Amino acid sequence: MPKTATVPLNVFTSRFRNLCSLSGLLLLWLWPVVPAAAQTPTRGCLVNPYDSLLQSRNPNYARGRVLLDRLLREPRSSARTDGTEEETLIIPVVVHVVHNNSSGQTGGATNPNISDAQIRSQIEVLNEDYQRKINTPGFNTSPVGANVNIEFRLAIYDPQGNLTTGITRHYSSRSSFSTTEMNRLADIVYWPSNRYLNIWVTRITGDFIGYAQFPDMTGQPGLAEVNGIERTDGVIIDYRNFGRNIGTTTQGVYTQGRTTTHEIGHWLGLLHTWGDVVCDAPGCSCGTDFINDTPAAQFPNETLGCPELFSVCGGVRTRNMIENYMDYSPDRCMNIFTQGQKDRIRRVLELSPRRKALIESARQALPETDNLRVRAFPNPVRPQDNRRVNLEILLKGSKPLRVAVFSSTGQLVEELSVNSTPSLILPVTLPLQKAGLYLIRVSTPDESQVTKVLLPE
Ligand SMILES: [Zn+2]
Repeated sequence: MPKTATVPLNVFTSRFRNLCSLSGLLLLWLWPVVPAAAQTPTRGCLVNPYDSLLQSRNPNYARGRVLLDRLLREPRSSARTDGTEEETLIIPVVVHVVHNNSSGQTGGATNPNISDAQIRSQIEVLNEDYQRKINTPGFNTSPVGANVNIEFRLAIYDPQGNLTTGITRHYSSRSSFSTTEMNRLADIVYWPSNRYLNIWVTRITGDFIGYAQFPDMTGQPGLAEVNGIERTDGVIIDYRNFGRNIGTTTQGVYTQGRTTTHEIGHWLGLLHTWGDVVCDAPGCSCGTDFINDTPAAQFPNETLGCPELFSVCGGVRTRNMIENYMDYSPDRCMNIFTQGQKDRIRRVLELSPRRKALIESARQALPETDNLRVRAFPNPVRPQDNRRVNLEILLKGSKPLRVAVFSSTGQLVEELSVNSTPSLILPVTLPLQKAGLYLIRVSTPDESQVTKVLLPE
């Protein structure tokens, strides 16, 4: 079988513009940013070669990918058209730290057994980026910028139902794992990928800093069973690029936690913005990521900065969206997922069996209660949340909801309804800029609860 990962490293030293004849071979992860930056790794995302490896090992997987791209281009039935925010989708995360430090010490310079604080900083970055949080590096003012509205949470329960921190630590005599050794990592530790996003943090052999597995579409009409990859369904990140500027997160220009944002984008079904075709020869056709609102690009941004780059695709000159998380830009340049990318992600979460099961499982993780219970958080609302508050609504079974927001003078200022739902976390944006106390009434057909929320000055 083809072994894409056996291609020698650093073959294409800074000559990526000449790779058009290789379009489709997906070898873009091999070249360094610039020759002088020998100590600076490239984005080195391995997802495409790894995906090719999976496809070559399993023909059904290849068929699944084709179907995935077709299905994901269809409109999403659940998309809101009234401007209201969609349900926050919870993704429970388990971070498996696989290291070769036998001392048992966590944290500290060069220690692959990274600290809890380093891990928590990564979760924070993910939520900023996937929720387009105001006053954070994940915010943007682009008209096509989207709040994907996914909340990543370190798991509270392990697969056996015991309380956990969502972090596991495993000593291995191996100092690093190559990009074809995903199975070995899964042999060391794996939690069911239909209930958790597994993130393995280890030292990756060579210049790569992360890779991920695309979602599979088993069970969709016309698609044969695609098995055998469940145990490796997750994301692998080099420990020197995991988290934000803390602990061992010191490698190159990828120190702001966006390697994980990018790789989880693949895990959620997104492709690179340039469609994995580097194209600059006359007559060459640009690649596509199947997203309408990310401009077609001839090549990734593999510089050490955030330059203005332009592409001419189909005769049209457009600016490359180098700030997109699915480009190869340095971390500090990145701040956007588009509405089209959000639609694709949320469609994956509806259609891909394991992703769908994971979301359902997380929903069910919220307890069922005999009587309606409502809790608002954060409360008081934080300035960085842009007047947004989350309502944890616990109830019995599934019920339709009405949510009414009143000002402190009793004026009804906002009202929304939710179709029949089990316990959920519902984001509500307070409609007035005015600071003060708000009353939020949540009603089912047979009971209601009022909770107070403070919007500080
Ligand atoms: Zn990538």
